[in-house]
Amino acid sequence: MTNRDIITRSDAHLMPTYARTPVAFVRGEGAHLWDADGKEYLDLFACLAVANLGHAPRAIADAINAQTGKLFHVSNLHYCEPQARLAELLCAHSFADQVFLCNSGAEANEAAIKLARRWGHAQGGTRHEIVSALGSFHGRTLATLTATGQEKVRVGYQPLPSGFRYVPYDDLAALDRALTDTTAALLLEPILGEGGVVVPSPDYLAGARRLCNERGVLLILDEIQVGMGRTGTLFAYEQSGITPDIMTLAKALASGIPIGATLARREIAVCFGPGTHGSTFGGNAVAAAAAVATLETMIAPDFLPGVRKRAAHFRAGLERIAARSPKVKDVRGVGFIQGLQLVESGAPVVAACLARGVLLNCTADTVLRFLPPLVISEAESDQALAILAEVLCA
Ligand code: PLP
Repeated sequence: MTNRDIITRSDAHLMPTYARTPVAFVRGEGAHLWDADGKEYLDLFACLAVANLGHAPRAIADAINAQTGKLFHVSNLHYCEPQARLAELLCAHSFADQVFLCNSGAEANEAAIKLARRWGHAQGGTRHEIVSALGSFHGRTLATLTATGQEKVRVGYQPLPSGFRYVPYDDLAALDRALTDTTAALLLEPILGEGGVVVPSPDYLAGARRLCNERGVLLILDEIQVGMGRTGTLFAYEQSGITPDIMTLAKALASGIPIGATLARREIAVCFGPGTHGSTFGGNAVAAAAAVATLETMIAPDFLPGVRKRAAHFRAGLERIAARSPKVKDVRGVGFIQGLQLVESGAPVVAACLARGVLLNCTADTVLRFLPPLVISEAESDQALAILAEVLCA
């Protein structure tokens, strides 16, 4: 099938929930993608922070093939080795003691919200409210779109679940006023992703942690977009000097095989007793095997230092473009989540880059968001940024 065939047939029978760019990808390798008409692209999007190890990475494909050759799935009423190894690895490399496995980011946040509510009830019943940030994005289930601090995702879904309130992001004074003895948890992204690559002040997460401690409130960090090496450390919170009580992961956790995870300290995790939460496919054996292989790749000694070096090179390239282009107001980001704040809508830039074989994304209308595969080489970055410069500096 050609691009046109795939697009026509998809549009006829898939519900129109996405504003899709008219291109159909059929193959990928590292930071390269090919569409159905044979055109090659350099990828600065990584399927929205999913393909952190690049497209079709060999080690993950091998782990998936080895598992599919043995068993696809094990019911959560029984045990399976990939889940055991995944939970062990996640806990060994984070603050957490226990993990709930699910299938997506929204489900991981839904579980985090439910766990915080269960914990709140266990404190005597008054703590139930979830406080989240304006501009945040946490998913599309009813609870997670309610936690999302963007009105546009809620349109037409009322009545919404109750017990949610919002604070401006990166504003400790507002947080100080919002956390009360009815608050169960504060849910925050360490960097706003969908909200426009907003990096908070260096003391924000530590200040939020301190306020949560003072008020007896749980801190949930949503690392669905910024976890798994994206910021140059395995998890973004590692750079803030604090640990959360609960953390959510998905996207890149299994390199493109659907999975989500909610991690917590033991005294909170125990609030999920048998029968309180579950998922048929949560922690599916193939997905868990892919996640184990992904984590093993990322914790190898040279991997994250290499990411930091390549990300610094990429950032320097963006700064050179920003210095030359009248269309760019600001460069911001950490590691391989970077944004260029434009003075106008970014959609024409994305389209012009796509036509020239570079895939990137625009969010919050005026922010070009860069989420390249963490394995992109410096030469590939230079090649993609030269094309971006052609478009932005013309
Ligand atoms: N949280 C954050 C920070 C996200 O970026 C996303 C997706 O973009 C989600 C949650 C929802 O994840 P999913 O689309 O896997 O449900």
